[in-house]
Amino acid sequence: MIPGAFTYHRPSSVAEAVAILVSHGDEARPLSGGHSLIPMMKLRMAAPEHLVDLAGIADLKGISDDGGTITIRAMTTQHELIASDLLASKLPIIRETSLLIADPQIRYVGTLGGNVANGDPGNDMPALMQCLDATYVLSGPDGEREVPARDFYEAAYFTALAPEEILTAVRIPVPPAGHGYAYEKLKRKVGDYATAAASVVLTLEGGSVSFCSIALTNVADTPLFAQEAGEILAGSTLDTATVARAVAAAEAITEPASDGRGPAEYRTKMAGVMLQRALAKAASRASS
Ligand code: FAD
Repeated sequence: MIPGAFTYHRPSSVAEAVAILVSHGDEARPLSGGHSLIPMMKLRMAAPEHLVDLAGIADLKGISDDGGTITIRAMTTQHELIASDLLASKLPIIRETSLLIADPQIRYVGTLGGNVANGDPGNDMPALMQCLDATYVLSGPDGEREVPARDFYEAAYFTALAPEEILTAVRIPVPPAGHGYAYEKLKRKVGDYATAAASVVLTLEGGSVSFCSIALTNVADTPLFAQEAGEILAGSTLDTATVARAVAAAEAITEPASDGRGPAEYRTKMAGVMLQRALAKAASRASS
């Protein structure tokens, strides 16, 4: 289908973009890669009268290391995440996850900012950002504020982002050197959204888990930070009984829809299977 009519805006600064959003209220939407928004417009599930293209804002591009925290500006594409040497050395789970998103054509254009701001439970980056305890930087008419990824998602397509705000950057604390990581995603075919996926970052000391962070994708209306599961594993040697308890705790917080990806019970179980695999892979990659 063809989208409804809209006015196209191309601001060159965040302040200009925010001013356009303020003047048009609910009728305006930011446009990043357009790989979620334009399909929704073609289906007439979204019909913004004003599109505010962020592509001309130089301040929204780039990845930097601020000493212990990596800042990724919102318009950084998924392809640029994959190509970044800095991320490969400090946050390799971002590359691993990005490679599981859609296909190369979409990753050349789709952005990190669009992926996390979208609020679609099927997007892979939100759970990863919860796992990494990232913070989102939001710019609006009253200036800048920061919201933890773990507090950002309210329901499917509802987030803490106000209509006149732009997500400008994602800040991620760098996990300790030698940490283990894995993003395990079950999908029906290449390019598909997750039936269920699990993100794990952990550290080992003397063969025991000293820290473990877990989050799940597409098994509820929002990404799920599985805090209890991570806490169960802390101090353990990832023995079978403790892993089973952690997996059960993670499965217990899921609430997936029954849809073309399978019945709810199946998707809950697959979240558990993805978590088990991610834990084993993360442990095998961690230095003790
Ligand atoms: P856009 O589509 O431009 O925007 C998405 C939404 O976020 C819009 O509501 C927009 O107004 C808002 N927005 C965008 N940027 C900002 C900002 N900076 N501040 C505030 N609001 C903003 N994604 C996955 O994670 N996993 C997949 O497996 C996957 N498979 C896909 C398969 C196909 C066939 C397609 C078409 C897409 C797929 N995607 C998948 C989605 C893709 O990754 C999108 O690019 C991404 O979700 C949105 O990023 P975008 O830059 O295209 O954002």
